[in-house]
Formats: sequence, structure tokens, C-alpha cells
Amino acid sequence: SLPSFVPALVVGSGYGGAVSALRLGEAGVRTLVLEEGKLWNEPGPDGEVFCSVLDPDRRSTWLRTRTQTPLGTFLWLDVVNRDIERFTGVLDRVEHPNMAIYQGRGVGGGSLVNGGMAVVPERRALRRALPTVSPESMYERYFPRARRQLGVNEISPAWFEHTEWYRYARVARRHANRAGLDSVLVPNVYDFAHMRREAEGEAPRSALAAEVIYGNNYGKRSLDRTYLADAVGTGNVRIESLRRVRSVRREPDGTLVVSVRRIDESGTVLESREVGCRWLFLGAGSNGTTELLLRSRETGSLPELSEHLGQGWGTNGNVMFGRSNPLWDPTGGRQSTIPVVGIDDRNNPHGPVFAESVPLPAGVETFVSLHLAITENPERGRFVFDSASDSARLLWDPDQGQPSVTAARATFDPVNRANGTIYRRDLFGDTRAFEDRFTYHPLGGCVLGAATDGHGRVRGCPGLYVTDGSLIPGAVGVNPFVTITALAERNVEHVLAADIGVR
Ligand code: FAD
Repeated sequence: SLPSFVPALVVGSGYGGAVSALRLGEAGVRTLVLEEGKLWNEPGPDGEVFCSVLDPDRRSTWLRTRTQTPLGTFLWLDVVNRDIERFTGVLDRVEHPNMAIYQGRGVGGGSLVNGGMAVVPERRALRRALPTVSPESMYERYFPRARRQLGVNEISPAWFEHTEWYRYARVARRHANRAGLDSVLVPNVYDFAHMRREAEGEAPRSALAAEVIYGNNYGKRSLDRTYLADAVGTGNVRIESLRRVRSVRREPDGTLVVSVRRIDESGTVLESREVGCRWLFLGAGSNGTTELLLRSRETGSLPELSEHLGQGWGTNGNVMFGRSNPLWDPTGGRQSTIPVVGIDDRNNPHGPVFAESVPLPAGVETFVSLHLAITENPERGRFVFDSASDSARLLWDPDQGQPSVTAARATFDPVNRANGTIYRRDLFGDTRAFEDRFTYHPLGGCVLGAATDGHGRVRGCPGLYVTDGSLIPGAVGVNPFVTITALAERNVEHVLAADIGVR
């Protein structure tokens, strides 16, 4: 059961929430973390906690009766998605008009389902995204701190060059190089020593067993094994799962009170409670945190919140596409699910493009090179509160994805020309080559320095802080979780010293 009051309360256990919980706990502040998803620690009937991409079951998907992969079809056939039982599964796809937001659900948030790519952005991109944040402090202090605590490591280049599991990535790199593009090996939180033991048959397989977007059973240093384990280890932090925070109100003495619903594994609400706290940290992700604050403002419980709330949302310029290789250029039937190659096009006339080589672990040769490009799409959407559905609705027009597509084409049309490859048109349910109707990297909604002050304090409500990806206005040029983590480290350090009185 929940206490009626705790000094510090954290909503959500993704990157922002986990950083806050650890640093509060280390500082001796008693902290309760409320997470809507499950604690993923019990094996299912097959003996594993998570299911694979190739054989998804109810563990895969958040409260739906069918899986929802971005790659909807193959040869236009509906062979990818499966009917499943409704369950609090680990990957959620939040549908807005014209845009679907993917997010992880569970203790560990996005770290449970993501590809683990741990990328520090270039100075130029960081300055553009966070102009009021000192780059020196980020590069010298908070990025190194985040990388260390996340357990970032690098693949051995020698192993990468010969293992069959990364043939697909070497093919993509060769194709890019032929068109004059650079590529880099990208660090990751997946334990590459474990992956090599998987390849040698000495450790249970996870990255090499088609596990990723529905969770990794082994090898990945997700937040439940890093930040959150250490947070609980301080003795000051408790995590409660299957708790959905609905809204926030402020009492005259400054106590912040959240209303919480306990749900079961089919999503049914079992009970509603209130918990008070002195300091409230929101880490429910771009969609979750923004919705919570919009609901609180629009239903009158926190009427003073900023008019900037809901603004500055973007997709991190995400666009996915596949290229069809000639028969003499196979990508390999055996593919590690952990992406390690980034194609880096800094000279793109439409802004830099950073495109990861994404695995397609079908178990058979597909001759497909799949990419997720991160582009500098300047378009921004806005969340508004829809009282009829009691939820946030994203205002995003279909043509706002076009700059991402244009930039991706400017990088990859020459790659196709140099290699005799063509775009696939059978992967996304219709004949489009570029899928820009979803994002894995939702950013913004409670932007730093707009809806919050320069350290994530929510304007109009003392004691309330935003800690997650909603602080970053729409794009950061590379995969975002290292930036989200480092920014949360920076902000919580300041808040602990300035507001909570801990140095
Ligand atoms: P999240 O990690 O989204 O955590 C939010 C948490 O809050 C969730 O656990 C959620 O269940 C919980 N929550 C939400 N609402 C409530 C509520 N009302 N009450 C209680 N709890 C709530 N990024 C990279 O840098 N590298 C990658 O390789 C990469 N690959 C990705 C692959 C996929 C398939 C996906 C979906 C994302 C990927 N990302 C990647 C993106 C990255 O995971 C996100 O940017 C990151 O997780 C966002 O962190 P966050 O702290 O903002 O929130």
C-alpha cells in the first residue's frame, strides 16, 4: 500500500525518472517512484521474462489485442503483426492523428525496449536544442557521468569486421562509403562481451535471438539494472509498479498531491488513492508528462501552469525506410538486434542526417538494408488537452514529416545510385518508401526555459520538476537517451543543492 506522504515522489521510471530517483536516494531523501508499467522480473510460460520480435505474445504490447510494429508488412503481406491477449506489455504505441508515438512501459521505461544506442550529440546540435545550457558542463561533467552510470561500452572493431551477426551493418556501411559518406561505430549499453559469448554459444542468446523492441532477456544494461538498482540500493528509494498517476494539485501549504490509480495486468483500475509530497519529479516521458500537466492545468488543479505547456514537440526527425539489395549483396539471415553503425551525413543540404543501420532479424535472408534516419526536421507539433477523451492530443499535420523525408532522400538517393539498390515500397502497409508517421524519439512538450525554468522547475508550481525528454524541444540530431540522462543529471544536481538543501 502507498504512504499518504513522502518527501520526494517521482512519476515514471525511464531515464529522467531513474536519474532523479538515484540522486535523491543518494542524498538521503526518502523517495517513492510510481510507474504505470510492470516490474519485468517474472518469467512467462516459456521461462523467459520477455518475448522475441519473431514470436510476440501478450508480453509485447501495452493494452492491445494486436501487436503494432512500425514495419507493418513484408511484400505487402500482413505477416509481421499478431493477435494477442490484452495485457500490460512492454511496448506502447500511442496513436495521435497523423502520428504514432512509441514508448517503453515498465520499470525502466524506454530502456527496456530501445536499441541501446548511446550517442553524445555534437556541440552544434546540443547548442541548437538547449541554447541556455552550458556545453562545457555537459561535455566535461554530465555526459561522462551519464555514460558511466548507464554502462556504455563499445563493440570490438575486430569482432565487428568478421562476425556474421553484423553482415547487414557492414553492407550498409560499404554502400554508404561508396557514395562518399562517413560512418561510425556507435557505443551502446548492450554488453558486447556478453554478445560475443552469445555468438560462441557460451551465454544465453538475446541480441542474437531476435530480442529487442519487446525487451531483452540478457545482455542489455537497462535502467532496472543500472540507475534504478542503485537507487533502490541506497535504502531510500521504493518503486511501485502498475500505478498510473492521473493529475497533480497543490495544497495551500505547498504540499503537492498526486492522484494515483492502481491497475491490474489487463489495465483494469483497482483503486484510486492520493499521495502527498514536498518535491515532485515528473519523468513520465514526452507524452506522459505533458499530458499529466495539461490535464492538471485544464481541469483547474494547477491553473497557473505556463501557456508554453504542450509546445515544442518533435519527432527527432525520425524516418524509416528500407533498400533492396541485389542478390550478390546479402545482408545475412542471422542479425544482431543491437544496431552499431551510424551513417553520418554532415553535408546534407537539408541539415545533417544520422542514419542507423537497423537489423531486420527475420531469421532468413531478406536482401533488405533497413535504416532509421534522424534528421533536423524543424517542424514542431503541439499537445492540447482533449476533455472528451480526458487525454492529450497531438496537433501534427501529415506534411510536417516531409522535411525528414527530403533530407533522408538527399542522403540515400546517391547511396542507391552508387550501389544499384532501390527503396522498398512493401514495408509500411501501402506503397510509400519512407515511413514518417511514427517516432521512436518523441521530444518536447514541456520545454526547458519555456514551460519550465532553466533547470526543469515547472513555471507556476513551486516544488514541481520535469526531468525527462519533454524538456528537449523536438530534436537533438542523434539518438536521445544519453542527452536526456545527462540533462537530468545536471538539473537534479542543481535542484538538490538549491531547493532541497543537499550538497
Ligand atoms: P521514458 O523512457 O519513455 O519513460 C517514461 C516512463 O513513465 C515509462 O516507463 C512509462 O510507463 C511511465 N509513465 C508514463 N505515464 C505515466 C503515468 N501517468 N504514471 C506513471 N508512470 C507513467 N534512444 C536512444 O538514445 N538510443 C536508441 O537506440 C533508442 N532506440 C529506441 C527504440 C525504440 C523501439 C524506442 C521506443 C525508443 C528508442 N529510443 C532510443 C528512445 C529512448 O528510449 C527514449 O528517448 C527514452 O526512453 C525517453 O526517456 P524519458 O525519460 O523521456 O521517458
